[in-house]
Amino acid sequence: MPQPLTPAPRLSLDDGATIPQLGYGTYKVPSTDAARLCLEAIDVGYRRLDTAALYGNEEAVGRAVREAAMPREELFVTSKVWKDDNGYDTTLRAFDQSLARLGLDVLDLYLIHWPVPSTDRYVDSWRALIRLREEQRVRSIGVSNFHEHHIQRLIDETGVAPVLNQVELHPWLPQTALRGFDEARDIRTEAWSPLARGRVLGTPLLDDLADKHGRTPAQIVLRWHIELGNLVIPKASSPERIRENLDVFDFALDADDMAAIATLESGERTGRDPDHD
Ligand code: NDP
Repeated sequence: MPQPLTPAPRLSLDDGATIPQLGYGTYKVPSTDAARLCLEAIDVGYRRLDTAALYGNEEAVGRAVREAAMPREELFVTSKVWKDDNGYDTTLRAFDQSLARLGLDVLDLYLIHWPVPSTDRYVDSWRALIRLREEQRVRSIGVSNFHEHHIQRLIDETGVAPVLNQVELHPWLPQTALRGFDEARDIRTEAWSPLARGRVLGTPLLDDLADKHGRTPAQIVLRWHIELGNLVIPKASSPERIRENLDVFDFALDADDMAAIATLESGERTGRDPDHD
């Protein structure tokens, strides 16, 4: 059996918690496979699992956490309130349901999945998350798919900033302005679809860089995220790829590599623009 890899380094959050820089994403991981693949990820060295009410696999993710040969406090679990449940009471209820499905006493990080400006209830959800943190049912609270102006509104209306913003981010969509905004407010930026759902991997430039470093194109892209200081949660369906994706902490990209990858920016999204959802 191959040796486990060294776990990803932990980065600090503005509320004093720490979070592994790289975790395992579980969107579209079927509930029938999720426990096995999460345990596979933990065995290989992952310490972080990203799920959401939407994904339909919270029970399986929670089972993996409970069955892992690992103290609970070494594992970091994120879930998210789905957009239909934005609002104060609805978010509190959704949290109870997520925690029950996960079978955990406390969640490490809870996020508002999408702001949904058309229903305008995300500030109410944020107040609910603040309460959940005060009640110590969740350690850290953050947001997902928030533009700068959505975050600014949370800060203006509640005085509390999220510790993390999970957004679509990959070489086609490097989110430079948003990363700068987050950094200035001590908010960590986390990349979802860090490989653009695998679609960016066919790029010849990435093949060249992979040859240069003796790595795979996926490892080049994930290392690019690490060099930028992003948190990152790639999803993969095989033990080989799960391992490959964590194995990015023993090499570096140089300034020329980073400049070359910057030329891939096209603004293309694989998901929706948060202002129009
Ligand atoms: P990713 O960018 O992580 O890409 C996943 C795809 O890339 C899969 O098709 C996978 O194939 C393939 N892949 C993974 N590793 C490799 C590799 N080493 N070589 C070749 N292909 C590879 O996309 P996701 O959309 O899954 O995003 C990652 C995570 O981000 C999600 O799982 C979820 O946790 C989170 N997310 C959050 C969202 C939000 O709104 N907050 C929205 C979307 C995602 P295969 O599975 O066949 O191995």
